[in-house]
Amino acid sequence: MARPIRATISGQALRHNYGVAKRAAPRSKVIAVVKADGYGHGLARVSKALKDADAFGLIEPEYAVRLRESGLSQEVLLLEGFFEARELPAMAAASIATAVHSEEQLRHLEAFKGGKLDTYFKINTGMNRLGFTPAAARAALARLQACASVKSVTLMTHFATADGPEGIGEAMRRFNEVTAGLVLPRSLANSAAIFAHPETHADKVREGIALYGATPFSDRSAESLGLKPAMTLTSELIAIQDLAVGETIGYGATYKAAGALRVGVVACGYADGYPRLAPSGTPIVVGGVRTKTVGRVSMDMITVDLTPVPQARVGTPVVLWGEGMPIDEVATSAGTVGYELMCALAPRVAVGEA
Ligand code: PLP
Repeated sequence: MARPIRATISGQALRHNYGVAKRAAPRSKVIAVVKADGYGHGLARVSKALKDADAFGLIEPEYAVRLRESGLSQEVLLLEGFFEARELPAMAAASIATAVHSEEQLRHLEAFKGGKLDTYFKINTGMNRLGFTPAAARAALARLQACASVKSVTLMTHFATADGPEGIGEAMRRFNEVTAGLVLPRSLANSAAIFAHPETHADKVREGIALYGATPFSDRSAESLGLKPAMTLTSELIAIQDLAVGETIGYGATYKAAGALRVGVVACGYADGYPRLAPSGTPIVVGGVRTKTVGRVSMDMITVDLTPVPQARVGTPVVLWGEGMPIDEVATSAGTVGYELMCALAPRVAVGEA
């Protein structure tokens, strides 16, 4: 006997979405971004499904080494680089490429004598989190290129607004100014830029959210971009309540039945990763029919309006998000983004492969 909640990961959808980026940026290598345990999908599962990807990018050094040990031979890149100098020998031994975004990392590479690394020189073009400012970049780049521990340098930036109306004009102006005349490979585009800014494709694009079948945009659906959901979160009805007019549902009695109302209780709550802030009215599919949540999300349960599904019974299947219920719609209703929902899938949810 197991609680009926389950996440199903589709390797076919991951490969399809990788192919969407390949077709959108036909002259570029596509780095599959698999940080945060493959955006919650499971690093081993995602890297196995994408074993033919051009390269992988992630944040966690220990997982980068694990990816290499799993037998993958293509490039594995640390998108934020290393965090401590003592990681460098293991990275060199495992051929892990590293972003270099800070003076501290630069000094560690200058001092490192234990091997050679491929590097991505990160330029801050306006995100203002990581990277060398345009003013400091050329001098830092010259030092990086002079390091005996550096095998190659790729120029890199990460856009703050590739998904929005602000666009990337100013970021590109800064990037081009710093990199003018340099004959080095370049990597700029995230998912949003892959679709919206082809002029940024250059040598390598970095596909994250689109790989998992969600949209990077607030005004373009994943489906309209040709993407397929890689994660489907399903559960079942475990109880049904018939409410009389005026009865309320759940903690805080936040939802009051305006008339007689059949309510289904779904085995899924915020302890499974469903957003607690999803309000009444969040879309959900019950028995193949689209309906909406009613009342507050609790730790282990959510409640749904069964009016459009009169045939619903205990055991009727429910799709929280994924195939047939875009994760982006649930995220928007909850005031967040698909990225956060995927990454927040809780360890107690059983995960299987489609
Ligand atoms: N490149 C870098 C440096 C990142 O940090 C990320 C993720 O935030 C990505 C690419 C992928 O971004 P997205 O998931 O929006 O495609």
